[in-house]
Amino acid sequence: MEKGYTNVMEEMVTTLVHVLMASPDYQTFCSCAKCRNDIIAISLNNLPSHYVTTADGRRMIFEQLNTKENLTWINKRIINAIHHVGKYPKHFSSND
Ligand SMILES: [Zn+2]
Repeated sequence: MEKGYTNVMEEMVTTLVHVLMASPDYQTFCSCAKCRNDIIAISLNNLPSHYVTTADGRRMIFEQLNTKENLTWINKRIINAIHHVGKYPKHFSSND
């Protein structure tokens, strides 16, 4: 935790997006760095942040979030973001 604080939700969403994009269901979607970052950013805008400042806190929040019920609604928002980015990809824009 080099910043002194970290958003556990961000860590989880980053991992979940990589897992989902690697699964057979999402092979038709673009997984370039730009689309992947857009998917992560849109998902995080639609999810509560969970900042922690200690490794213990991080472990505690991770355990709270890492339940079947929580993963279901977190994944739902990520899947919405995957579909949104798939429909309106920004990977060809020149402003980045
Ligand atoms: Zn792309």
